[in-house]
Amino acid sequence: MEAIIAGTLLQLLQGDIVDQEVEAVVNAANTGLWGGSGVDGAIHRAGGPAIAEECRRIREEQGGCPVGQAVITSGGFLKARYVIHTVGPIWRGGREGEDELLASAYRSSLQLAREKGIKSLAFPSISTGAYRFPLERAAGIALTTVKDFLTANPGIFSEVRFVLFSQPVLAVYEKTLAEVLDAG
Ligand code: ADP
Repeated sequence: MEAIIAGTLLQLLQGDIVDQEVEAVVNAANTGLWGGSGVDGAIHRAGGPAIAEECRRIREEQGGCPVGQAVITSGGFLKARYVIHTVGPIWRGGREGEDELLASAYRSSLQLAREKGIKSLAFPSISTGAYRFPLERAAGIALTTVKDFLTANPGIFSEVRFVLFSQPVLAVYEKTLAEVLDAG
């Protein structure tokens, strides 16, 4: 499924984030920037040791990456030139600012991409794996945040993709995007 929002192509597709031919892929990282499981493990495995080495340097310089923020490294062996590492919140029931922190993770990634002059990027479904954020709620936050950013920054990006790992997750994102676009 795709839509054009203020001059940017927004695409939802099923696939593996490490295969994407975009300028930057976004990693669902942890605050220590230690490669972990899920998206994080896949990106570090495919991208090779250069990514972990740059993460180590960022850890030494600034202690890692707080929840809701983002840092950038090169893409190592990936097709993508950069990896934007953002940290989504761990779901703790919804009363600990999880919604705003998840929106902030998307916003921070988009802002960092804009600062670097990146034109195309791919997001995974942040926080909905090991961090257990409820999928439909996360999809609503993800798509609303991206839509609002694109609307406020027309033509900054040529393309933003969501790369969903499975068909059921893609279906939730498609249904949610239709609702978000209908809401205007
Ligand atoms: P978090 O710790 O932020 O919850 P995870 O990596 O555990 O992040 O999961 C986030 C989402 O990414 C889940 O929907 C998971 O199925 C999906 N996922 C896992 N590996 C990949 C991959 N290689 N490409 C795209 N999505 C992936």
